[in-house]
Amino acid sequence: MARIVMKFGGTSMAGTERIRRVANIVRAQAARGDQVAVVVSAMAGETDRLVNFCREANPLYDPAEYDVVVASGEQVTSGLLALTLQALGCKARSWLGWQLPIKTIEAHAKARIDEIDAPALIAAMEAGEIAVIPGFQGVSEDGRITTLGRGGSDTSAVAVAAAIKADRCDIYTDVDGVYTTDPRIVAKAKKQKAVTYEEMLELASVGAKVLQTRSVGLAMKEKVRVQVLSSFIGDGAPPADDLPGTMIVSDEEMDELVEKGLMERQLVTGIAHDKNEAKVILTRVPDRPGAVANIFEPLAAASINVDMIIQNVGRDKGETDVTFTVPQSDLARAQALLEDRRDSIGFNRIITDSKIAKISVVGVGMKSHAGVASSMFRALSDRGINIQAISTSEIKISVMIDEDETELAVRVLHTAYGLDAVS
Ligand code: ADP
Ligand code: ASP
Ligand code: MG
Repeated sequence: MARIVMKFGGTSMAGTERIRRVANIVRAQAARGDQVAVVVSAMAGETDRLVNFCREANPLYDPAEYDVVVASGEQVTSGLLALTLQALGCKARSWLGWQLPIKTIEAHAKARIDEIDAPALIAAMEAGEIAVIPGFQGVSEDGRITTLGRGGSDTSAVAVAAAIKADRCDIYTDVDGVYTTDPRIVAKAKKQKAVTYEEMLELASVGAKVLQTRSVGLAMKEKVRVQVLSSFIGDGAPPADDLPGTMIVSDEEMDELVEKGLMERQLVTGIAHDKNEAKVILTRVPDRPGAVANIFEPLAAASINVDMIIQNVGRDKGETDVTFTVPQSDLARAQALLEDRRDSIGFNRIITDSKIAKISVVGVGMKSHAGVASSMFRALSDRGINIQAISTSEIKISVMIDEDETELAVRVLHTAYGLDAVS
């Protein structure tokens, strides 16, 4: 007997027919004698639709009321899955975020899970009931509904798995694992048998949306065993217990897989892209101590995350240009904040561009190998792709390019690092 958390994403839950397929997968897992908790997303497209309603109702919406609206998509699918499981003869009930409860802290629309009260859930599971939990939602200290940020059901699933000490957290989605890059962009992308927590964290944070970044950080911290696998499977498909998907593993487990010849040690594990950032250039900023602090302090105070930053070589007359990126959704706010401080910061012009993309290559092999960055720059330049900014970490190199060149750049780099699957 094992204790398993199964999470199903929006495409898997899109409509009663698909929910029936999900219910069959859940029933099969429970039929193996396992205790099962299921975490579900809203139907694909539903959360976007609800977000749009909020924007239409009030462009400057109150995040607390936004949470009331957008959390409803998961309430519908959790109830529907419980009903469908009951129709298949299973004992099942839904547990909404405030009922468990899943207590969260921090801001509405991007809340963090603080604590999950697990005893009642565990007791129900031990009594043979399948628990169905809406992902994405929780409850604040003052009893109001909260949501965890887009893609947050992955984090709900990992947090539930940690709280009930599950043996595994299976994240069912519309692809059968984590690939070397988004398989919808590169047909030759290869499925990985395993990826380390550290690499997955970095890949998720630079745009590989297959797992929400926070879910990976939490899994790493709480040592939750996570598998990414497909819910679009036929009757003869191997069970999840055979690990048909991609396992997220520790460095030590990866070493063992390599020793056993089950994984190859790779320089680059994956390539990700992100089209959701925008570039801001401030021209003729005074080249003196405190100038950049004056730019970034108001942005930080407004919770605007700045990603890539370049301070160009100083011009004559003690001036310089400063370029950086912010999420596209925060661009208007960032621009307004900076315009308000034009005199105190002392810049000349503010130039913005939303048509940019960030392409990142990730791999732990970079820690010990030189030349990964230079081959990236050469491969892009050979195809005439201009690099507008660069940023690096120990296991990642990111470049900013024109958005129109995103797909080309991802494909070119995938080939350049020898990641293409042999057909
Ligand atoms: P869900 O609704 O199940 O949460 P998401 O749409 O959030 O699913 O995530 C799955 C999608 O992630 C896939 O359809 C795929 O296009 C995308 N994706 C991006 N990068 C990768 C990658 N490296 N491996 C697998 N899928 C990826
Ligand atoms: N339904 C939410 C979203 O679309 C949460 C999730 O699916 O993970 O962002
Ligand atoms: Mg998702």
